Amino acid sequence: MISLHSGEFLEVSLQALIIPSERVAHVQLGNNLEHALLVLTKSGYTAIPVLDPHYKLHGLISTPLIMDSILGLERIEFEKLEEKRVEEIMNTSVKRVKLTASIKECLELLINHPFLCVENEEGYFEGILPRSTVLNQLNRHIRKVNKHEA
Ligand code: AMP
Repeated sequence: MISLHSGEFLEVSLQALIIPSERVAHVQLGNNLEHALLVLTKSGYTAIPVLDPHYKLHGLISTPLIMDSILGLERIEFEKLEEKRVEEIMNTSVKRVKLTASIKECLELLINHPFLCVENEEGYFEGILPRSTVLNQLNRHIRKVNKHEA
């Protein structure tokens, strides 16, 4: 049986696992949908954070949200990409955790979310924790334990 109580998986700090804010593709409040679509397409991600100039998190913007907002009755209204701002359509119910959250707590939240937004005690955006990072960490731990038992 694989023990997760060895301190190597469940006790690792979030700080060590997150993608830091400076490496997270994001848009800012006030950016239009055209800019957001450019960042999303260039980065290859389907959803990215919306931050303010002080690095506070306000929501998430995604390609499906943008496409839905420019869908007219008979055509795609591309001109709206320039007119609309990200804050008009972003998803504001973001799954966020504090830097002090446990991996166990994050693991549970990551079942239903591809990534979690991580904030410090003052509520400033610190980065994201993608599901793949935690799975990778778990995989490494399992391999290590199996090697020791072999
Ligand atoms: P992954 O598990 O690496 O595929 O990432 C899951 C999701 O996390 C992606 O689809 C993005 O929405 C988000 N994500 C991962 N890395 C970044 C990044 N560097 N910048 C912005 N979003 C990211």
